[in-house]
Amino acid sequence: MAATEMHADTCAAPTVLPQQGETLVRRLLEELGEDPRRQGLVRTPHRVWESLSFLTAGYDRDVLDVVGDAIFEDEYDEMVMIHDIEFYSLCEHHMLPFFGACHIAYIPDGRVVGLSKIPRIVDLFTHRLQVQERLTTQVADALQDVLQPKGVGVIVEASHLCMMMRGVEKQSSRTTTSAMRGIFKSDHRTRSEFLSLVAGP
Ligand SMILES: [Zn+2]
Repeated sequence: MAATEMHADTCAAPTVLPQQGETLVRRLLEELGEDPRRQGLVRTPHRVWESLSFLTAGYDRDVLDVVGDAIFEDEYDEMVMIHDIEFYSLCEHHMLPFFGACHIAYIPDGRVVGLSKIPRIVDLFTHRLQVQERLTTQVADALQDVLQPKGVGVIVEASHLCMMMRGVEKQSSRTTTSAMRGIFKSDHRTRSEFLSLVAGP
């Protein structure tokens, strides 16, 4: 499994006001040949805009907001791993969902982070328009930056509705990406231990 190198992106918070957003969705419905005034669709622009705003709320925060003061001095120096962090995101090419599981490990260097914060770091980056490769590296880089551990490993496995519902229609295909930092990159035994923990017994 090769680590995928991606460039960091710059993210701007959406600036469209809710009412303008709803107007855009209403307009989109018209373009699709629908009548936005018919009963089933009257509230749809409101609901779509509300749901899109929720699904892209990650633009407004950064990793320090998420982690807060949950970083603790600790001598623990073995691998810390969280398996199967469920996530849902939207691909930036089609704005269709991709979803799956994220596996994250790090080896502390004098500091640990509250375990509940790690899934919240994943949420921060999944609640943006994404590509899976960038999501993987952003999670790894965020943990590396905020904790300065000996290393970080991140594996993301996902199914993409843009592949499943349209185009190639490969319904059972899954995409795996990985990002290794520090000792996870330089030491093959650490990386192997991580990969075997991900694979399970
Ligand atoms: Zn897509």
